[in-house]
Amino acid sequence: MSSLYGAIEAGGTKFLCAAGQGPTELLENRAVIPTTTPAATMAEVVRFFESVRRANGPLSAIGIAAFGPIDLDPRSQTWGSLLATPKAGWTGSSLVAPLGHFACPIAVDTDVSAAALAEARCGSATGISSLVYVTVGTGIGGGAIVDGRIVRGMLHPEMGHLRVRRDPLDVGFAGICPFHGDCLEGLASGPAIMARWHEPVENWADDHAGFEIIGGYLGQLAATVALVLSCERVVFGGGVMSDGRLLPFIRRAAQQQLRGYLPIEARVGGFDRYISASGLGSAVGIAGAMLLAIGAAASPSVGPRK
Ligand code: ZN
Repeated sequence: MSSLYGAIEAGGTKFLCAAGQGPTELLENRAVIPTTTPAATMAEVVRFFESVRRANGPLSAIGIAAFGPIDLDPRSQTWGSLLATPKAGWTGSSLVAPLGHFACPIAVDTDVSAAALAEARCGSATGISSLVYVTVGTGIGGGAIVDGRIVRGMLHPEMGHLRVRRDPLDVGFAGICPFHGDCLEGLASGPAIMARWHEPVENWADDHAGFEIIGGYLGQLAATVALVLSCERVVFGGGVMSDGRLLPFIRRAAQQQLRGYLPIEARVGGFDRYISASGLGSAVGIAGAMLLAIGAAASPSVGPRK
């Protein structure tokens, strides 16, 4: 009998839960649970997986792709708990403890790192061993795969808070990041776009000045990760990217910044391939969570060391 895995995409507004035998072999029944209090939300998550277990048998592992910041240090007693998050009531709450009674390995990582894994394994860059996934939405986050593995360290990458060179046409805007003001997230996230243009990218005319400005900032991130990580692809997803019109501006800005320094034409076939849209779209999070679960089942050491 094939193994059955559980997958949770834990977001700030909703938790998506699914189960299946792989990222493209999901069972029909899924749950979409509003993110309310930790206790109420996690109780619904547990109820869903109990129903899956009753109908289909035990779970081999559960993977969680979560909003952050989150404690990912397996030596920490608070592994799998949210750190200081602006999401009211969630700071310090554990995503893994309520799932303990399923008695299976649990893996947890950020939603963007899980998305990067999904793009590298079954998305737009299948078979690529080093890749960065960037989401541009309410915030800006990035996850990196290097040599087939998710990059983690003291915490997880926080690429959204890089400082970028300001566009001369945008110097009057202070930025909205509560920590840094005009970091990348403070300049190019969905709320930062709304703060100066009052309508989302999908409503913009094709000649809107914001395309050059926002695409320029995101292109600087793409060039930076190319230089720092030597990644083979940079994939962009998230609500701000959804209509695809920012991508050409991002590619052009990255190309202008790099000035031919990296062999992107020779090795990858050009910036149209190097910087791409998500191949999995809205399914990227749950696919990533499923891959985390499969990884946990294969090496069940994931979790706090006692
Ligand atoms: Zn910031």
